[in-house]
Amino acid sequence: MARLILLGPPGAGKGTQAERLRAEFDLVHLATGDLLRAAVAEGTDLGREAKRYMDAGELVPDAVVVGMIRERLSGGGSGRFLLDGFPRSVPQADALDRTLSDLGMPLDAVISIAVSREELVRRLAGRWICRRCGRSFHEVFNPYPGTPCPSGDGTETCDLYQRDDDRPETVSHRLSVYEEQTAPLIDYYRSRGLLREVDGERTTDEVHDQIVTHIPAPPGS
Ligand code: AMP
Repeated sequence: MARLILLGPPGAGKGTQAERLRAEFDLVHLATGDLLRAAVAEGTDLGREAKRYMDAGELVPDAVVVGMIRERLSGGGSGRFLLDGFPRSVPQADALDRTLSDLGMPLDAVISIAVSREELVRRLAGRWICRRCGRSFHEVFNPYPGTPCPSGDGTETCDLYQRDDDRPETVSHRLSVYEEQTAPLIDYYRSRGLLREVDGERTTDEVHDQIVTHIPAPPGS
């Protein structure tokens, strides 16, 4: 089984790493940020409510995100999942704990990706994301090579946009919210013996290789 959390500040590379791990390990990738952005794009009541918090760089209320994750985890499926961007606070972690114990699906590991604040500000400021395939690029560190989008018809290029909440004022607030509300989860999971730490300032491949050493092998391998 592989039941994992990717924990780390905004800009640590969780989305990039999660996308690769999902494909290689056949995991369901659950990213609350992506689910919320989809609700915003659809213009649902929940999306309109969430957008106010997201644009301000604040956390969306726990009840909303906990409900989204609970619904998806309870929906059957393989039980192999990777949570990205959730939990983001101690109450969310407690709620997750209760949900997983009700479902009889304990976590295997919480992978914490560490990156310094200066580096995060640099990364988030130049970030561009494809609306179709979800891959993220960086103006300076990882420019979009202009190749066809893997989610398109093979001829289209990626449809890049900058997230509203990647504006400099909002970035700094999101990092403070991370320090105050999410960083305590490092000790929370360390004290439960679940924490695995990786250095997020290495190359994407090196970070990936560090993470893989912490993923339990599938049964029978
Ligand atoms: P992300 O894509 O993970 O950086 O999330 C973007 C924004 O969505 C965050 O700044 C929050 O406003 C909101 N969000 C995502 N995940 C959560 C969560 N677990 N709890 C509360 N808000 C969240």
